[in-house]
Amino acid sequence: MEKRTCDNCRYYVYRYIKKNARFLKVNGKCSHSELKDALEKKKHPWRGDGECDRWEPVEIVKAERKKAILETLRDMEKHLEEIAFILKDDE
Ligand code: SF4
Repeated sequence: MEKRTCDNCRYYVYRYIKKNARFLKVNGKCSHSELKDALEKKKHPWRGDGECDRWEPVEIVKAERKKAILETLRDMEKHLEEIAFILKDDE
């Protein structure tokens, strides 16, 4: 079983820098609503050894993102069909 770390947790949000035409991952930060303030003040007892009791798999975020992208693409498809209909009707 894969070790539970911030890197594979759904609450870890990466930061990037833009260099030339690319984005480079530089570091990240916990975004858990109950932990982020404590982590910034270094009060969370998590020791960085995979014992965080708030850890959840990053696959949840990937699935949510994929679902959101598919919904956006379906909306775009609908809007493009409407635009195409209007343009064709105006010919
Ligand atoms: S919830 Fe825990 S494991 Fe997940 S990013 Fe925050 S500190 Fe790391």
